[in-house]
Amino acid sequence: MNVFDDKKIKPEVKTAIKEMGFEEPSPIQEKAIPKVLEGKDVIGQAQTGTGKTAAFGIPLLTKLDESSRVQALVLTPTRELAIQVAGELQKLSNHLNVTTLPIYGGQSIGHQIKALKRGVQVVIGTPGRVQDHLRRKTLKLDQVNTLVLDEADEMLDMGFIEDIESILKQTNEDRQTMLFSATMPAPIRKLSRRYMHQPETVSISKSDVTAPSIEQIYFKVLERNKLESLCRVIDRYDPELAIVFCRTKKGVADLTEALQARGYFADGLHGDLNQSQRDAVMRRFRESDIEFLVATDVAARGLDVQNVSHVINYDIPQDPESYVHRIGRTGRAGKSGQALTLVTPREMKHLRSIEREIKMSLPTRDIPTIQEVVE
Ligand code: ADP
Ligand code: MG
Repeated sequence: MNVFDDKKIKPEVKTAIKEMGFEEPSPIQEKAIPKVLEGKDVIGQAQTGTGKTAAFGIPLLTKLDESSRVQALVLTPTRELAIQVAGELQKLSNHLNVTTLPIYGGQSIGHQIKALKRGVQVVIGTPGRVQDHLRRKTLKLDQVNTLVLDEADEMLDMGFIEDIESILKQTNEDRQTMLFSATMPAPIRKLSRRYMHQPETVSISKSDVTAPSIEQIYFKVLERNKLESLCRVIDRYDPELAIVFCRTKKGVADLTEALQARGYFADGLHGDLNQSQRDAVMRRFRESDIEFLVATDVAARGLDVQNVSHVINYDIPQDPESYVHRIGRTGRAGKSGQALTLVTPREMKHLRSIEREIKMSLPTRDIPTIQEVVE
């Protein structure tokens, strides 16, 4: 027997789990779901791609009653993630009479207000837009008895701490609170002490920070040959779908253009695009019309796209935690993936701090020669 068979889970949710093809619970689901079903506050620490959404989603949906009041609120750092979590909860609630709604900046607020008026039980939102609705009184949280802080470390990095605290204060004190985060820096621990009741921590593979199904390699490159090096790496490693990370929005725009000019199916995702442009890019990437999604960290936070075979760090991340987040975009749900990182001499120090963080040294390979690429 596994936790998916727990008697406390609604049969409709069990049916949905089967339809989604989840046969075995992931380790975080195995550990977290029983505690959440008991009504405990839970802190979940696990790497990306380990199934945290269902870990909170299954008990959350099981707890809902028939009324159309907002009973659960999930806060996520980005709009893309809000949409993605809403999609997963939608699937899990396929056989329940439940409405889930993502609310995020960049989408017309009027549309969201109308949807909220029609009656929604589960709201998934970014802290800024949730605050906006609270100020307008178009969203009420007094009936919320489940609150989830998803990717809490990312939300803090993005400066959402005040919004989060203000939102927490507007919900019932006796709510159940869950907090998920890949890392547990001091501000998160403080937040949990203040706003959670005797939380239990479930944590998965602390020492093994990165998923073992991801093969990690780095390439020494020269700044002036970076683009050429990237193209050779792409041609040699032949990704099915790849996310290519750049440090800045301008970097994303420039690299996207350069790749397109060379005939690669590439498009860019960054904060300067409007919402419908971002949605269109994501849709085309999910449908494999685009093979290379060029993105900044912010744009790619938490994204779950099936079949991302490669994460390529065109610019190495400056902080080690974002390396872990980036490469977690591949090797998801047990599939294997490769993480390829280009490193210029000046960036070598960042590589070393990444190696310290993940507690292993990365193997290096030579940039493929033209002959290897053509073969
Ligand atoms: P995280 O939030 O930990 O990064 P997600 O919740 O986004 O991870 O899950 C990653 C992927 O794994 C999703 O596509 C999800 O549908 C899938 N998944 C989750 N749990 C299971 C499971 N028990 N069996 C198979 N696939 C799963
Ligand atoms: Mg997640």
